[in-house]
Amino acid sequence: MAILEILKYPDPRLKEVAAEVNRFDNVLWAFIHDLEETLRAGPGGAGIAAPQVGHLQRIVIVDVSSKPGIKQHGRLVLINPEIMEWEGMVRGREGCMSVPDYTGNVIRANTIQLRAQDEQGEVHDYEMEGFEARAVQHEIDHLDGLLFLDRLVSRRNDLFQRKVYK
Ligand SMILES: [Zn+2]
Repeated sequence: MAILEILKYPDPRLKEVAAEVNRFDNVLWAFIHDLEETLRAGPGGAGIAAPQVGHLQRIVIVDVSSKPGIKQHGRLVLINPEIMEWEGMVRGREGCMSVPDYTGNVIRANTIQLRAQDEQGEVHDYEMEGFEARAVQHEIDHLDGLLFLDRLVSRRNDLFQRKVYK
């Protein structure tokens, strides 16, 4: 068990495309355990992707259950996730553990149909909307070497410095 180091922008490893997972074994489960501990240790993170800790495999954990009153599936381990369908576009504010000093407005699909494998390799289909759908799209971007910074329409109007508390 370990809390892993989060890579921070502009670390070039955050720009790499992650590889598919094809072995569902003890090595994978141990890594997922550490990835989840790392997510839980962060400040209010709704998700984490394996490349954020320098592990270039298509593994994401999303858990938006701390947000009250929204449609969501609770804790999800998503392996080789793929968006099959999407609908509607909405603008919303995002933050990222790899970009700790900023938040930004990003346009995402409002609803998605997601297909992903779980820790055992079983395939599941999910219908997601709103904040959960946004969190998943954000994390899948990490698997393709993209940060929310790459999706801002306007750096001038859509990027915000986080308040620093000392
Ligand atoms: Zn992120």
